[in-house]
Amino acid sequence: MNISLLNPQQLDILKNTISQAQHIVICAHKSPDGDAVGSALAWKNYLENTGKTEVQICLPDQTPDFLHWLPNHRQILRYDRGPDKVKEVFHKADLVFCLDFNQSSRLDDMQAALELSQAPRILIDHHLDPDTNCALTISHPEMSSTSEIIFDLIWQLGAYDSMSCDCAACIYCGMMTDTGGFTYNSTRPEIYFIISKLLEKGINKDEIYNLVYHNFSANAIKLRAHIILNKLNVIEELHAAYFTVTKDEMRKFHFIKGDMEGLVNIPQKIRGLKLSISLREDTERPNLILVSLRSSNGFHCQPMATRFFNGGGHADASGGKLFCTIEEAEQITLRALLAYKNELQQKSAR
Ligand code: 5GP
Ligand code: MN
Repeated sequence: MNISLLNPQQLDILKNTISQAQHIVICAHKSPDGDAVGSALAWKNYLENTGKTEVQICLPDQTPDFLHWLPNHRQILRYDRGPDKVKEVFHKADLVFCLDFNQSSRLDDMQAALELSQAPRILIDHHLDPDTNCALTISHPEMSSTSEIIFDLIWQLGAYDSMSCDCAACIYCGMMTDTGGFTYNSTRPEIYFIISKLLEKGINKDEIYNLVYHNFSANAIKLRAHIILNKLNVIEELHAAYFTVTKDEMRKFHFIKGDMEGLVNIPQKIRGLKLSISLREDTERPNLILVSLRSSNGFHCQPMATRFFNGGGHADASGGKLFCTIEEAEQITLRALLAYKNELQQKSAR
């Protein structure tokens, strides 16, 4: 199967920039998910395999608990924990890889650190509308995950044979989490070719599934149950659903980061549903509402995320933020639903 992504010129640029670099930074987006962390750790593993000794992963903030098992997770630097250290690393860098995000604003406060760097940038990502102001932009919105792109690059660079089991586990984790355990964005045959190659490296895919998806606290399950039972609004004629989550509710159920992960996917289980929206108060900043959108059955949420929620993402999995109260966020959501009334109303095949 041909999984080579780069043309000969791009491959040369990638090889040459890596060979000339000594101090390499890999950064990924705020609120890093399995793909952001998995792809970054896998790429660090690859670069170190080629003899690079100074490779640092810098993330804007905390990773969720269910990713802490990832090999070498402890080596990640966090901007919110030590901005000066991260700034220093960026300042010293002679090559920066931007993984799993399309625009530098996705780094949030850490964007300032990236701007300090004069180093060439290489973007490796699968979101729509990539930043092309880079030495090399490797952007593939059709692919499941940045981790899948990382596999293809390692393959094309001829380094599959020396890929470690740790590296394979990180790639598998990223591919699995960005496809909801291979339930969406996952119909391309290449994905299953790659999985077979990762299994040959000795990864235990069932164990990885358990580590990621069977890792809730009792409180997290109860918070989810509360939201579904008491907070879910289903607008049947629009094939849409949304819910709000307040700080008080999160406090009551001793919320920790990651506890809400995937909850926005649950309403998608309703037959014929096209759109699910989660509105959640930020736990630290007042008047900041974190928005997640998921779509299916022929409706695509990405334009709505851009137009109404200051965000973007993938065609069927997007996010954004609002600077207002939760009540105002609900009003904005209702306006957004009405703006797309015609598309949402149409009956879906399911
Ligand atoms: P989630 O709902 O899991 O937070 O995000 C879903 C997708 O939308 C992710 O791929 C993420 O990268 C993207 N996304 C989340 N928040 C934002 C945002 O503020 N801006 C943009 N452009 N994309 C976002
Ligand atoms: Mn991703």
